[in-house]
Amino acid sequence: MASSSSSAITTEELTLTVKWSGKEYTVRVCGDDSIAELKRRISEVTNVLPKRQKLLYPKVGSKLSHDATLLSQLPLKASLKMTMIGTVEDDLLIDPVESPEILDDFELGQEEVIDIKDKDVNKQKLRRRVEQYKIETRNPCRKGKKLLVLDIDYTLFDHRSTAENPLELMRPYLHEFLTAAYAEYDIMIWSATNMKWVELKMAQLGVLDNTNYKITALLDHLAMITVQSDTRGVFDCKPLGLIWAKFPEFYSSKNTIMFDDLRRNFVMNPQNGLTIRPFKKAHANRSNDQELMKLTQYLLAIAELDDISKLDHKHWEYYTENGSKRRRHA
Ligand SMILES: [Mg+2]
Repeated sequence: MASSSSSAITTEELTLTVKWSGKEYTVRVCGDDSIAELKRRISEVTNVLPKRQKLLYPKVGSKLSHDATLLSQLPLKASLKMTMIGTVEDDLLIDPVESPEILDDFELGQEEVIDIKDKDVNKQKLRRRVEQYKIETRNPCRKGKKLLVLDIDYTLFDHRSTAENPLELMRPYLHEFLTAAYAEYDIMIWSATNMKWVELKMAQLGVLDNTNYKITALLDHLAMITVQSDTRGVFDCKPLGLIWAKFPEFYSSKNTIMFDDLRRNFVMNPQNGLTIRPFKKAHANRSNDQELMKLTQYLLAIAELDDISKLDHKHWEYYTENGSKRRRHA
């Protein structure tokens, strides 16, 4: 928990020198970033995955192994160098088993969500992320389309089960869903893993070269920000404001919806998130999971609204069951 005395330095930028494998790298962080965030920055310049990094720093000891520790809680000095020990993952077929996504989801109170989203420190983190992160468009944004942002793990794919062919772990109706959604929505995929894995997984599932729809962009863990809540400590989330800032002429809070199995990923934009039922145990559930088919109906039903952020996506199933007509003006 940040004390008021440390708040003065929380937004201050720090430039750290990290030694790894005989070379030195410079990373820019700030006091209210967590160790997890620092590791992502290091990953960006070294390609060593955060989970493979061990960090060493004079007189700090084990605090560096706790991802939730805030940098402002450590006696970091620009004059001292950090050492990282870790190996680049050459094998692209990494199962992100240790990714933070496997943690159970948790509910934050309504007030806490509002608090996190409105905090200046988090807005500032978002601004920095907008400056740092580049979104490569694979296909042009289309005027007049809404935006659908999709998580991968447990949303489109069961990354925890094993199979000889990854297609066995794909959520049923994925291509039908994307094809139908594409008529009204541009599609971006945002996963809390690294870009190599995102590209590999999407290519394996046939999402990147499908003739019936196109993916506008892929985003990875480096696009996320770390926020702090009073009750749940430090965690990462996916701020849609990053996309809105990059493509202001196309996307906004009014026309964007994100599907993710972890509600906390929406904390910076709670009105734009729909918590999807996780797709787990693919072998057992493959024959009866209808989530994407049902969500297709919802997406198409709300596509005609000017502002979909006014809806409460928690009740998406009632929306389609009761027919959109009655609720449209609610
Ligand atoms: Mg997920």
